[in-house]
Amino acid sequence: MQYPGNLFVVAAPSGAGKSSLVKALMELDARVQPSVSHTTRPPRGQELHGREYYFVSQESFDQMIAQDAFLEWAQVHGNRYGTSKTAIEQRIKQGADVVLEIDYQGALQVKRIFPNAVLIFILPPSWEELRSRLERRAEDTADVIDLRLRNAALEMAHARDFDFVIINELFERALFDLKAIVHAQRLKYAAQRSARSDTFEALNIP
Ligand code: GDP
Ligand code: ADP
Ligand code: 5GP
Repeated sequence: MQYPGNLFVVAAPSGAGKSSLVKALMELDARVQPSVSHTTRPPRGQELHGREYYFVSQESFDQMIAQDAFLEWAQVHGNRYGTSKTAIEQRIKQGADVVLEIDYQGALQVKRIFPNAVLIFILPPSWEELRSRLERRAEDTADVIDLRLRNAALEMAHARDFDFVIINELFERALFDLKAIVHAQRLKYAAQRSARSDTFEALNIP
């Protein structure tokens, strides 16, 4: 089923710059809307319930699974994370572009449900830079950083299953690449046919 909006799924090992890139994209492009995930992880310093995540208890998360409320969910770095079904399909039907920032397991589940979803993997330029970004972000304890770095190798091995790869070395360059992917989706025949139907009709293109 082809909807007028696109579903973009962005995955990366922790610290590669996924959230910073998606945030910058949304500041430049009002048609791109976030999906706020549910998680059992505790909030970090500046995070707000309903903005970065809905922070929920293990019990509420179990309840949502039982109610079939998730489009996808996965266990990541010892916590559970899930995308609720609410509003995703409805928003892409209405022509919005929705971006999910989720792990590779969730991304692959979404691709099975929405084969037109665009999967984008963000890589860091090196192991040294990945570690130093996690340390510079200063939001996680040393143990959490070590766990995230250990998991990164497995996560990055799944980059091959994605449609696009961006190497986030220079931030502006990576943002340019992300904008290019979003823009290209909007130029696909089906998208143009629906967004610019007046032009197609004036040109007598059926
Ligand atoms: P490529 O560098 O040969 O792959 O060609 P591209 O067409 O992708 O880009 C040409 C150059 O313009 C690249 O060096 C880009 O980094 C640069 N460029 C284009 N748009 C932007 C932008 O919005 N920000 C930044 N920083 N660089 C840009
Ligand atoms: P993720 O969401 O993938 O875990 P973040 O967006 O939180 O990653 O980025 C991790 C840290 O790296 C942040 O402190 C961010 O400001 C920084 N960062 C992101 N991209 C770059 C870049 N290209 N160069 C240097 N630092 C970056
Ligand atoms: P963080 O705790 O750093 O915000 O996120 C840790 C990991 O969980 C990241 O890989 C992030 O993409 C992933 N994640 C966040 N929300 C979801 C979600 O709703 N579903 C899935 N599958 N993964 C998520």
